[in-house]
Amino acid sequence: MQVVLINPYELGRQPFGLAEPAAWLARDGHQVVCVDLALERLERSVLERADLVGLHLAMHTATRIAVEAMPRIRAAAPHARVFAYGLYAPVNAAMLRDIGIDVVLGGEAEPDIAELARRLAAGDRDWQPAAAVNLSRIPFVVPDRTGLPALTRYARLLMPDGSERVVGFLEATRGCKHLCRHCPVVPVYQGRFRTVPVEVVVADARAQVAAGAEHLSFGDPDFLNGPTHALRVLRAIGRELPGLTFDATVKVEHLLRHREHLAELAAHGCLFLTTAVESVDDAVLERLDKGHTRADFVTAVALAREAGIALAPTFVAFTPWTTLGGYLALLEHLVHLALVEAVPPVQLAIRLLVPAGSRLLELDDFAAMVEPFDPALLGHPWSHPDPRVDALAREVQAIAERAETEGLGRREAFTAVWQAAHRAAGRDAPALPPALGAPIPHHSEPWYCCAEPTSQQLASF
Ligand code: SF4
Repeated sequence: MQVVLINPYELGRQPFGLAEPAAWLARDGHQVVCVDLALERLERSVLERADLVGLHLAMHTATRIAVEAMPRIRAAAPHARVFAYGLYAPVNAAMLRDIGIDVVLGGEAEPDIAELARRLAAGDRDWQPAAAVNLSRIPFVVPDRTGLPALTRYARLLMPDGSERVVGFLEATRGCKHLCRHCPVVPVYQGRFRTVPVEVVVADARAQVAAGAEHLSFGDPDFLNGPTHALRVLRAIGRELPGLTFDATVKVEHLLRHREHLAELAAHGCLFLTTAVESVDDAVLERLDKGHTRADFVTAVALAREAGIALAPTFVAFTPWTTLGGYLALLEHLVHLALVEAVPPVQLAIRLLVPAGSRLLELDDFAAMVEPFDPALLGHPWSHPDPRVDALAREVQAIAERAETEGLGRREAFTAVWQAAHRAAGRDAPALPPALGAPIPHHSEPWYCCAEPTSQQLASF
């Protein structure tokens, strides 16, 4: 049976979310074609031969692209069964069924994907999983990346000295043990995470190093959800594949709680840690249930620097509670903490996205601020009570897009945002100090998972 697995978009990473189910399906004797729309076009001839088509919806952007693509998938493969899986599939199940997707799977989906293929091969076209979200512990196998584009075509690591490294992408865990209110992981994993066995992660790393990887990027929602597991993975990779560098995502709370491990992370080649700071306003952090304060963020910066690890903070810069003064405070913090070069311009433009099932809707004052779910936007639209904040958000988004298309440096883009924010608040923008922090290593793919897709991405079908 021919199965086509499609990855609409995943931040320029070679997707574990395709490679893992591809391995399960190939083991069962199916022919698997992987198509990564970040780098490839979806050819009609591929769809015409498909018995089963899977759409991997790992993030908002991917889901928007998949929705646009469904009419063409259905037209090219009218007899294929189509399933959607990944973080954004179960929370959008009703909408996905409305657009013609037959089966919606979430969480640890590989056993259900394998069962779906087995049933279909046996002539059962009606099989549905017992539950849309499977959180059982599954027997991971080594991902099969042979059908994906070469690693050299994916996002690269850009070093401050101008050199570049080929990046391999790994997942050592899925899900998260935390319940941050704005996070899309929470409605699916409900505070749980699952580990990929150390030997599977190491075998995946080995294969990617053989394919040219010089740096490894862990895509786990939070690498230190299970610090013991994380350290076992790093030690095993270090023993077998010495000399590699890596990056991962770790929340502020974990940077503080597991501070004793930071030196070991650095010794294993950690170049930078992405950390979801989201805001420097404690009242906003409280509403997001982030588990850290502004002071914790400042401590985390110091701890990471002490360990010799760069910190790459991310933000939800615009929320319904963001004031012009609060936005200026965020920019001032980045200046005072010498982090301007550590933050890509798009991070200064992110506007809170409220997907279906968001825990934010539990907040009385928030539920009253948002509109009903809009299937076209895949979220609950909201407007800021102060129209000047929404106008500033649009202006900063335009600066971030210009920075991307015209290749503006981070300092240059930050200066434009600094001036726009002061203008919006009716204040004169003070001159920025000459030193705004040292550039840090970062990936060449700057877009953010919750950003809207570009017209180029939508055209990949
Ligand atoms: S720690 Fe990160 S991944 Fe986990 S719930 Fe919070 S935002 Fe989501």
